[in-house]
Amino acid sequence: MESVLEGREKTGVPDAILLEDYLNEAAFIDNLKKRYYENLIYTYIGQVVVSVNPYKDLGIYTESYLEKYRNVNFYEVPPHVFAITENAYKSMISEVIDHCILISGESGAGKTEASKQVLRFLAATSLHRREVDRVRDKLLQSNPLLEAFGNAKTNRNDNSSRFGKYMDIEFNFKGDPVGGHILNYLLEKSRVVHQEVGERNFHIFYQLLGGGPAELLEKLHLERNPDHYFYLKQGKSCHVDSINDSGDFEAVQHALDILNFGDDEKTAIWGIIGAILHLGNVTFTVNDDGLAKVVDETPVNYCSKLLGCESKELLMALTHRTIEARGDVVTSPLNPEQAVYARDALAKSVYERVFDWLVRRLNLTLHNKETGRKTLLGILDIYGFEIFDKNGFEQFCINYCNEKLQQLFIELTLRSEQDEYRREGIEWEQVDYFDNKIICDLVEEKHKGIISLLDEECLRPGDATDATFLAKMNSHLAKHKHYFSYDTSDNSKVKKTINKDEFRLRHYAGEVAYRVQGFLDKNNDLLFRDLKEVMTHTSNLIITDVFPKEELGRKKRPDTAATQFKNSLGELMTILMSKEPSYIRCIKPNDEKRSSFNEERVSHQVKYLGLMENLRVRRAGFAYRRAYEIFLERYKSLCPSTWPNYKGQPKDGVLNIVKHLNYHPDDYRMGRSKLFIRLPRTLFKTEDTLQV
Ligand code: ATP
Ligand code: MG
Repeated sequence: MESVLEGREKTGVPDAILLEDYLNEAAFIDNLKKRYYENLIYTYIGQVVVSVNPYKDLGIYTESYLEKYRNVNFYEVPPHVFAITENAYKSMISEVIDHCILISGESGAGKTEASKQVLRFLAATSLHRREVDRVRDKLLQSNPLLEAFGNAKTNRNDNSSRFGKYMDIEFNFKGDPVGGHILNYLLEKSRVVHQEVGERNFHIFYQLLGGGPAELLEKLHLERNPDHYFYLKQGKSCHVDSINDSGDFEAVQHALDILNFGDDEKTAIWGIIGAILHLGNVTFTVNDDGLAKVVDETPVNYCSKLLGCESKELLMALTHRTIEARGDVVTSPLNPEQAVYARDALAKSVYERVFDWLVRRLNLTLHNKETGRKTLLGILDIYGFEIFDKNGFEQFCINYCNEKLQQLFIELTLRSEQDEYRREGIEWEQVDYFDNKIICDLVEEKHKGIISLLDEECLRPGDATDATFLAKMNSHLAKHKHYFSYDTSDNSKVKKTINKDEFRLRHYAGEVAYRVQGFLDKNNDLLFRDLKEVMTHTSNLIITDVFPKEELGRKKRPDTAATQFKNSLGELMTILMSKEPSYIRCIKPNDEKRSSFNEERVSHQVKYLGLMENLRVRRAGFAYRRAYEIFLERYKSLCPSTWPNYKGQPKDGVLNIVKHLNYHPDDYRMGRSKLFIRLPRTLFKTEDTLQV
């Protein structure tokens, strides 16, 4: 079996640290490529796994692989996501510290597939006992369920996650998985009402139509053909060869059963999915006064029946808006355009809230009530950096999220590593890297950042529009090194490439132009009160739960969408900072969803994932470090001057040991409080000496 310790072979090196020309990006990529064509998709940079999407089944996740990677030393087996998981798991159990595995990469790079294998490996780590098996099954089944509701076919990925997910798995002191908890982030809810050509709505809609039993569809008044529904057919690609909707529906049914969903809950879920489809088919025309009138009331009737509300009330709420101003209540009719807006806002809001409900419901099932010591291993699978032809509010949020994750990566690997060398007085040549804090600040800083400016415009009564928001940014941010727009640019060449309704951010991963259109609306995230009110007295048990009556009485405005997102990301960063991180950096080798390696595409990702900086820091650094006391305690028996009794300073004792073991002077450094060892093989040899 190939091992990381063996060094160069015809298939390239398994750890980029072993590359002779480690400063050279071309050599790094060439190594990835060689390995890719040998079906070796994993390569390490120290303890970071780089994974290149194979776009084919390599047979490397079988039961025998699960076995092969159990109880092994990280560097003694070929690189694999299982190895990094085993490593994190082992250290979590033995050192009793929480861990997290951070998976990053652009859309289609393989994050979700990796996260599923990590979860599989963890779920398989213990003896089979009935109670543990139950938890295990539930943890595993949460995936198909959330994917059905949160993933969709996009032009980049047939199974693209349209929400961010962080999942903690709880282990008891024996190392058995006993529970879990999921946090979800910013679902791309605009997809419910609109899809670009070539894309689809969330899978669940097509699954229900394709796989739902005839009686169920009849009860829901649904046609089997998705082309019948406006909310499903805008992308003109309801049928996808790589997707088996009816088979996936079975899987969802199975998941619902394992996760103990009751019949009443299932009925409520299917009712809502059906109701949204009918809602999308409600169209409006103008009456004699130019106001909205529903063309055909049938879909409204079906929708209200499935949600359990009065059809008349829904009809009224779809075409009118009530505003309370200084005690006066005024109801005014909507024009057709406003009515479409109201209809779509309702569909989006219902879907988003149901998705949140699903996650809460899953968490109830995964919750472990036992007290007693538990350790956590978290898995983060969150949307990667996105640059589309048209980028809007969603891309802005997603890319901001990636800036935060990059900050965390810098904080935890680049900066902390170098800080430690400095603290320990180890001679060290500083490795330069771009610190993207300046971009995070540009987006999130209080009073000055883009989100604050956006919120200000959203709250400003009167004539605020997307255009005034852009003008405001232009006047506040004109001098910022990472902000550009048509108005702020005095370089005519740059100006030519920027549209008047755009602003451009220079992200750490590249420049992205955002269209301001829709920013205010999406940030405000308004659902007209009339519709909210109808939703508070339905008989659908999930709708009643997610539209509580108290919400209507609330005077305080809820936080805007961007601010909520910012706050939840802030909390996520706190969670991640408190854990020991491992990284899986996923790379998408081409844009054709096939098995081939495009150097240019890879090079771009290697740059923005910061892999070369990562390699430089690792290479210049030391793979292993331990406090003198701990090293001494473990290895004192290997040296006559520290065994059996040693009374001196730990540092001197350790020096005696490494001298006695003939460590090469280049292979280690003595820091203020710790011993640093450059390569893992040195330590493995020492460990082996201990065993004999
Ligand atoms: P998004 O950000 O859009 O959610 P992602 O990074 O989660 O993208 P995945 O859905 O994990 O991407 O992967 C996209 C597709 O690539 C998968 O559906 C699968 O076909 C293929 N793929 C990814 N990883 C692997 C793998 N390790 N082995 C085989 N196929 C893979
Ligand atoms: Mg995904």
